[in-house]
Amino acid sequence: MTALTDTHAHLDDEQFVSDLPAVLHRARAAGVANILAIATTAASSSACIALAESHATLWATVGLHPNNILEAEATAWDTIAAAVVHPRVVGVGETGLDRHWHNTPFAIQEEYFIHHLELSRRSGRPVVIHCREAETDMLRVLRDDYDRFGPISGVMHSFVGDAKMAEACRAMGLYLSFAGMLTYKNAAALRATAAQQPLDRVLVETDSPYLSPVPHRGKRNEPAHVVHTAACLAELLGVSPERLAEQTTINARMLFRI
Ligand SMILES: [Zn+2]
Repeated sequence: MTALTDTHAHLDDEQFVSDLPAVLHRARAAGVANILAIATTAASSSACIALAESHATLWATVGLHPNNILEAEATAWDTIAAAVVHPRVVGVGETGLDRHWHNTPFAIQEEYFIHHLELSRRSGRPVVIHCREAETDMLRVLRDDYDRFGPISGVMHSFVGDAKMAEACRAMGLYLSFAGMLTYKNAAALRATAAQQPLDRVLVETDSPYLSPVPHRGKRNEPAHVVHTAACLAELLGVSPERLAEQTTINARMLFRI
């Protein structure tokens, strides 16, 4: 069995406090060899680093999720910017833009997204991007960055955009990561878009504990479940699950240098 990489899991989430060792055990048993612990706050950045320090198969990002900016302490950004050089930190984020929730005024989300893009370039660590109902603004900010500084090293996490969005993101250097939504009954349009993507530019993730793929939909998600999203993507791309696992893990290694 070829090893899969779950490129996006919130392992520091309170839903994993009581049974993380069992969760990691099930991931290994399912063939998930590497997991990226994705940060959402300054405290979460530290927690993700601590997890990556204590498990050889875990890697961390540092960042401030757009929905968590307003509640963050004044020192949060400095903490994150200082932590990025840690050897177990392989990415910056998650960051991005979100018009679904209104926790943070949009102008502030945009300001912090740009901070993350700068930190990503400065540190040489790819950026992990969240985009919810904000495609037009996302492309505007990305294109502005791309026009000024060139290709963007990073990933559109839990990608749900259309084929045009996918192509625009890839053209700027970004990878596309697919999550559990790909397996949902009502996601035919997303599956059609995924089916058009080149195998060397896609990743898989769970976004645990959220967005469980079918057949676990509605239950807590965990890294072991990435096998269902990977199987779905393999079928869409016309390759075996083994080939999909092999190539998405190569892609993750290329991008995050793990
Ligand atoms: Zn996330």
